[in-house]
Amino acid sequence: MTLTVHSGQSKDKRTSQRIGVFGGAFDPPHAAHLALARLAVAQLQLDVLKIFPTGHAWHKSRTLTAPEHRLAMAQLAFADLAQAQIDASELLRAGPTYTIDTLTQLQAENPGCQLFLIIGADQAMALSNWHRFEDILRIAIICVAGRATTARTAGSIDADSQVPPGLARSRFESLHLPPMAVSATDIRHRVATDQDIHGLVSEPIARYIAHHHLYHST
Ligand code: ATP
Repeated sequence: MTLTVHSGQSKDKRTSQRIGVFGGAFDPPHAAHLALARLAVAQLQLDVLKIFPTGHAWHKSRTLTAPEHRLAMAQLAFADLAQAQIDASELLRAGPTYTIDTLTQLQAENPGCQLFLIIGADQAMALSNWHRFEDILRIAIICVAGRATTARTAGSIDADSQVPPGLARSRFESLHLPPMAVSATDIRHRVATDQDIHGLVSEPIARYIAHHHLYHST
């Protein structure tokens, strides 16, 4: 059976490599991150999904957990997804993390590839403030998943409503992720207050958090 892909080409006719880019603090990686990664691979027919634990993300004010822990947890969290490749380059880069630098580097390393930037709708809302936003749009298709309400986030955010006015809709795609009320903020809060995180993170992540005493004070 021939499957339809984003560009309108059938899978057997396409030639360029399809590379997904999924960045996050992953502090910790949780069930919605994995569901989003799996869905993106399937819906976008990705050859590879590059997962970038972020370094010093310019838009996060909180001090993140040490890079080695977030890297180790990302490796555990996405271990069963064959297309996933954890990339530590943003963790190693000095100074603030800018998505455009990562995309430019991937494009240089993989000439002719099609890049897909995978983000939740909370990130999409602020996309037009990102460093060199127009260049990001030129290089990558922006793939947005809706984000559900959690106890600690106000209101659910619909993926389709997040294309900033005046921008080419052709550079955006909606990811059909069922709403998942999971956030790393909520998980950190639960650990700090001795609440259960079963089902919100995978068992290896829960064990890692317990073993390394992460998030006991926030
Ligand atoms: P925090 O609560 O600390 O801000 P987070 O849960 O948003 O963390 P990140 O590591 O910052 O996790 O997220 C990485 C990416 O995954 C972002 O693009 C974010 O929008 C997306 N994402 C995270 N959780 C969800 C969710 N429940 N539904 C859809 N997208 C999500």
